[in-house]
Amino acid sequence: MASSIQYAVIGLGRFGSSLSKELTELGHEVLGIDRDEEKVDEMSDILTHSVVADATDEEVLRSLGVRNFDCAVVAIGDNIQASIMAAILLKELGVKTVVAKALTDQHGKVLEKIGVDRIIFPERDMGIRVAHQLVSPNLLDFIELSKNYTIAELVVSKRIAGLTLKELDPRARYGCSIVAINKSEDMIIAPTADDILQENDVMVVIGRKDQIDDFESEAI
Ligand code: ATP
Ligand code: ATP
Ligand code: CA
Repeated sequence: MASSIQYAVIGLGRFGSSLSKELTELGHEVLGIDRDEEKVDEMSDILTHSVVADATDEEVLRSLGVRNFDCAVVAIGDNIQASIMAAILLKELGVKTVVAKALTDQHGKVLEKIGVDRIIFPERDMGIRVAHQLVSPNLLDFIELSKNYTIAELVVSKRIAGLTLKELDPRARYGCSIVAINKSEDMIIAPTADDILQENDVMVVIGRKDQIDDFESEAI
């Protein structure tokens, strides 16, 4: 198992509390910080440590020893000023990796200028993700590898169930390679021409976005 990492999560709203709970369940140490006592109380049994504190106060962050943490996540959203202030202080204190949630593109740009290592846009990205899933009913999930390339999880429909990869012919017809087939019993890694697709199997497909779109809409 990967070794335990120390995280500080600032802001225990819906995003911060979900994030910190999951990190804890993954076996990591989490210090949760929120200026709202009620939020801290709700998380006190779940997290390793949780404290009521204002993360825009440098002395407070110092006294909590935040700079010794491997990673700090600024999960303050609505109060953009507080988010920016907390991010600056964490970078100045020398926290190795600072991650911050941004509400708008402008907020994200400021965080980038400050030197925040990773900026996340949960609402924007979830909106994009759900739009893709609504438009492509067989699409479970996807990862954008670059502007043009994607890995997608596509569910095998009744229509193509029973076909081998050779019969479906995704690489020759669409330029899409299937890197794995997730079956309810097991997973086939690097499937070959004779592997058979069953209804509700999940194909893990790598290819150009437009090729995967065509494959999804025409062939599946
Ligand atoms: P979410 O979008 O994650 O549900 P939210 O909308 O409930 O969050 P936000 O305003 O985004 O609330 O803030 C998230 C949390 O950050 C809140 O619980 C808030 O009390 C906390 N917070 C805001 N400013 C500070 C600060 N300066 N120091 C510590 N915590 C803060
Ligand atoms: P390729 O060069 O595309 O692998 P090939 O002529 O070597 O083709 P096979 O490996 O026997 O032939 O596969 C026949 C066809 O089956 C391929 O053209 C391809 O469309 C499809 N196929 C086989 N394996 C995969 C895979 N993992 N992902 C996508 N398509 C595959
Ligand atoms: Ca919010």
